Amino acid sequence: MSPNQRDEADQEKALAGWREILGAEGVLHTPAALAAVGRNTSAFPPRDVTAVLRPTQAAQIPDVVRVAREQQVPLHPVSTGLNWGLGSKLPVRPGSALLDLSGMNRIRYVDARGRFAVVEPGVTQKQLADHLAEHAPDLVTNVTGSSPNSSVMGNLLERGTGFRRHRAEEVRGLEVVLGTGELIRTGLWSGADARHSHHYRHGLGPGLDGLFVQSNLGIVTAAVVDLLPRREELRLLMFSFSEKVLPGVVDAVGALFTADILRSIVHFFNDKRILSMTASTQVPTWTGVVALDGTQAQVQVAVQEARGPLAAVGAAVREITAADAAGDEADPLITAMFDVHSGRPTTAFLQGLHQATGATTVPDAATLDALDDSTIGYLACMPVVAVEGATVRDLMATVERICAKHGIVPALAINPMNADYAESVINLYFDRTDPQQTASAHACNDDLHRQLYAEGFRFYRIGIDAMEFMTEQDTAPWGTIARLKAALDPDGVIAPGRYCPISG
Ligand SMILES: Cc1cc2nc3c(=O)[nH]c(=O)nc-3n(C[C@H](O)[C@H](O)[C@H](O)COP(=O)(O)OP(=O)(O)OC[C@H]3O[C@@H](n4cnc5c(N)ncnc54)[C@H](O)[C@@H]3O)c2cc1C
Repeated sequence: MSPNQRDEADQEKALAGWREILGAEGVLHTPAALAAVGRNTSAFPPRDVTAVLRPTQAAQIPDVVRVAREQQVPLHPVSTGLNWGLGSKLPVRPGSALLDLSGMNRIRYVDARGRFAVVEPGVTQKQLADHLAEHAPDLVTNVTGSSPNSSVMGNLLERGTGFRRHRAEEVRGLEVVLGTGELIRTGLWSGADARHSHHYRHGLGPGLDGLFVQSNLGIVTAAVVDLLPRREELRLLMFSFSEKVLPGVVDAVGALFTADILRSIVHFFNDKRILSMTASTQVPTWTGVVALDGTQAQVQVAVQEARGPLAAVGAAVREITAADAAGDEADPLITAMFDVHSGRPTTAFLQGLHQATGATTVPDAATLDALDDSTIGYLACMPVVAVEGATVRDLMATVERICAKHGIVPALAINPMNADYAESVINLYFDRTDPQQTASAHACNDDLHRQLYAEGFRFYRIGIDAMEFMTEQDTAPWGTIARLKAALDPDGVIAPGRYCPISG
C-alpha cells in the first residue's frame, strides 16, 4: 500500500470509528461540508479537513480522541468557530478533522450566591446573558463586541477580552479531555465532597488552567466562569481627543488606574474603527470609553475624580447615564456601548462592520453571522503595549507608516486593561473579491507583525498564518511547552501547530 493509500485507509477507519460514537449525523464528510470549513473572512488559504465532527455530550470526547489516536487523524476543536480575523474555524495545519463543539451547549449550573456559571463550549454569550436575566438577575456576564452567537468558551481559550475584563482571568476551573483521552478537572473541582469547589480558583499545587488557554494540550469540555454582580449604578465616561494628545491621555488613564479610580477596561477607538460601529459620519479622531459602577455615591466620586485629569490633557469628556442610552432617540453607538458594558451582547459592532465595508442596508441576523461567506475581508494584528504615552506614540507611528505603505487605513483600538498594559487591535478591512486589495492586506498584516516584532513589540493573540513566524521567536519557553505536549498529547492529535511550533 502506498503512503497515500494508507492515509486514506486510516481516514476511512477514523470516520467509521467516529460514526459509531457520534452516529452518522455527527460525522459530516460531504464536499460541501468540508468546503464550508475553508471559507474564512480573512482569506487565509483553506486547509484540507478530513471531516466535521459534531458531538453533543462531553462523555463522547474521550472516545473521539481514542479514535483520533488509533488512526492518527488529528482534531481541531472549536466552540462556535467565529474566531474572525485570526482564522475563523480553520486549523493551523491541514489534515485534521474539525471538532465542532457548538452542539455541546448546556449551561450546566449557575450559582447565584457563589457568582459563577458552569458552561459547555457551545454556550453563547446571548444564551448566558438571557439565562442570567431570567434566573439570576443580580448577575451579569462580561461580554465581547463580537456576535451574540459567539461562545464564552472559545473566546476564553483564545485569551479574548470582554468589555469589562480579561476573559481568561474569569476562569475558576476547567474540565478537559487530554490527548491521552483522560478527562481531568482543575483545582478543587478535581476532588469530591468539598463543601465548595469553585470559591477558590487555585486549588492545591500547581495551577493548571493556564495550560489550556492559547494551547493545544487538551479539549475543554466545560468551564467555570466568574460572573459580575449587577451594581446599583453604572455610568460611562466617553471622551474624544485628537491623535496629538493620545500619549497624554494614555498616561492620564494609567494614573487613574494606579489610583484605583478606574477599575474596568478602557477602550480607545480611532475614527475608522468608530465608523465601523455606527452609521454616523461626524466623529472625532479618537473616542475613549470606560464604565464606572458601584453605589450612586461611589460612581459620582469616580466621575468627578476621572473627569479632571482627562480634561487636563485635552480630552472632551461626557458622562453617559442609562437614561441617555435608552429610547428611540438615543445615539445607536451610545446604546451599543451601554449594552456591552452592562452585560447585554449586541449585533451593533457586527452591523457596523458590514456597513463600513459596503453594505447599504442593515443585514438580517443570519447574514450578520455569515461573515465567512460574505465578501468582507478582515485581518487582525494584536500587539500588547505598556500603558505609557511615549510607547503608544511609537506604536502608532509604526502602524500608520506600514499601513500607508500598503495603502490601507487601519481601524484601531487601544484598550488599557489596567495601569500596566493595553491590548491593541489593528483591524485591516478589505474586499475579498478584489485580488489586489486581498494581497495588500495580507502583505500589510505580515509586515506589521515582523516590523513591530523587530521594534520590540510583542503580541497577545495571533492568527493562524502568523503562528509559524511567531513561534520561531523567543516569545515563550517553547522547549518546555513541547515537553508538556509530549506528556499530555503523546500522539500530537490535538490542534497541531496551534500556539506551538513543534507538534506534528
Ligand atoms: C465585530 C467584531 C467584534 C469583535 N469583538 C471582540 C471582542 O470584543 N473581544 C474579543 O476577544 N474578540 C472579539 N472579536 C473576535 C472574535 O469574533 C471573538 O473572539 C469570538 O469570541 C471568537 O469566536 P468563538 O467564540 O466562536 O471561538 P472559537 O472560534 O470557537 O474558538 C477560538 C479558538 O479557541 C480554540 N478552542 C475553542 N474551543 C475549544 C475547546 N473547547 N477546547 C480547546 N480549544 C478550543 C480553537 O483553537 C479556536 O480556534 C470580534 C470580532 C468581530 C468581527
